[in-house]
Amino acid sequence: MTDKTTVKTLLILGASGDLTGRLLLPGLAGLLATGRAAGLRLVGAGSDPWTPDQWRKRVDGAFAAAASKADATGKKSLTAVAGSTSYHQVDVTADGPLADLLGQLEGPVAIYFALPPHISQKACEVLRREQLPTGTRLVMEKPFGSGEESARELNKTLATLVPEDHVHRVDHFLGKATVLNILGLRFANRFLEPVWNRNHIEKVEIVFDEDLALEGRARYYDGAGALRDMIQSHLLQVLALLALDAPATLHERDLRDAIATVLRASTVKAPYAKSTRRARYSAGTLGGRAVPDYTAEEGVDAARNTETLAEVEVSVDNWRWQGVPFILRSGKAIGRKRKEAVITFRPVPHLPTGFSGVDSPNQLRIGFGPDVLELDVDVNGPGDIFSLDRASLVAELNAPDLLPYGEVLEGILTGDPLLSVRGDTAEDCWRIVEPVLRSWSRGTVPLESYDAGSAGPAGWPANGDA
Ligand code: NDP
Repeated sequence: MTDKTTVKTLLILGASGDLTGRLLLPGLAGLLATGRAAGLRLVGAGSDPWTPDQWRKRVDGAFAAAASKADATGKKSLTAVAGSTSYHQVDVTADGPLADLLGQLEGPVAIYFALPPHISQKACEVLRREQLPTGTRLVMEKPFGSGEESARELNKTLATLVPEDHVHRVDHFLGKATVLNILGLRFANRFLEPVWNRNHIEKVEIVFDEDLALEGRARYYDGAGALRDMIQSHLLQVLALLALDAPATLHERDLRDAIATVLRASTVKAPYAKSTRRARYSAGTLGGRAVPDYTAEEGVDAARNTETLAEVEVSVDNWRWQGVPFILRSGKAIGRKRKEAVITFRPVPHLPTGFSGVDSPNQLRIGFGPDVLELDVDVNGPGDIFSLDRASLVAELNAPDLLPYGEVLEGILTGDPLLSVRGDTAEDCWRIVEPVLRSWSRGTVPLESYDAGSAGPAGWPANGDA
């Protein structure tokens, strides 16, 4: 039985960091503004000798936008949390100080590791189960480990501290509303499930192209690249939601079992020169702004050959999907921002003789943020009614009331692990991409080039419009 005891204290390790300032605190502010996390205590910790005032200013700054829109209850809750927050200077890698801090906090505590991954790992290694307040939840950011082996080691360390359902491996890419939109679309509509398989679907593309370049993030990104940063984590989760078999319930056990099952059936098949592509952007123009060559960006080591655009074909080897390519692609500095899954159906077995025009395959597009559904169908054209034309049925799906990190935090604070990646799945996602990473490091797949602001290297099939 999942422990749903509400967290009393949120301890953010890495309080001075980028994630905390840009995503966590604004996400928390939005949640508090709804009045749904009243009574929470926020504690920040970091290795910097910050004064209480410095931390308070950071919190106030991040809460300001939400406070200006909140009703009286939301405002009260934001003021209470900001007014009672404290900051502690702690080296979390040392044996003792973090445990001492935990001893002073009211439990259950959620410990958010907003730290560089190797620091988080070290911090977990120096902790012991008996030092954690009852009901402690551990919140781990991506990347979870640097490969299957290290993810397994990290899982083992975490298992010595808390039960698996108290570990939240955050994947903020799909908020709760988007996950439920996909599941609702697939399993609450009778007409889709009978055609959701290899007999009717030709291919599935999952694309996350950004119209942003490196934006000063070389320190992290140059050691990661598009395959590790986006595909290994976020896009494989989307694949799982699109490919899984219907769970009996939306409870975390059923849903996460279904996700794990479909990912276990997934691989990228060799030869990788056929099933994968990689590229790096060169100088160009993005949204009217000149962008330098990736290798000229500060902090980039050109010899690493880091890809800024990656595409892999994942095979899901089960009865439903055998032979259907799932093409996962993500890139930076692409001319047109695209965050969508495109399901392309097979052509009709026979088009009645007499129709003219283009018989294009049906496509279902699921856009993520904003969540939009678009079904492209062939209809009789205007004028000559024998000529086929294209029509798009478009629906905007309900927008969530919280930012993605607000949804993530709500799940953590209320003990709902639905949006957290389970330990076995975190390992499996590395198992899927690691052979590709090894092959790329041996140079078996050429590193192609594309101009910043273009659609990608010429000839890549999943290129959209620039
Ligand atoms: P930053 O480098 O901006 O911040 C890291 C924080 O860790 C700093 O506050 C730093 O404090 C603290 N820290 C480092 N060493 C110690 C230590 N020994 N003891 C206590 N605190 C320490 O990193 P980010 O915020 O960008 O990233 C944090 C995590 O979130 C990473 O795992 C990253 O992969 C993940 N992530 C980040 C995203 C982002 O957009 N930034 C998006 C998704 C995930 P100090 O400065 O005082 O040393």
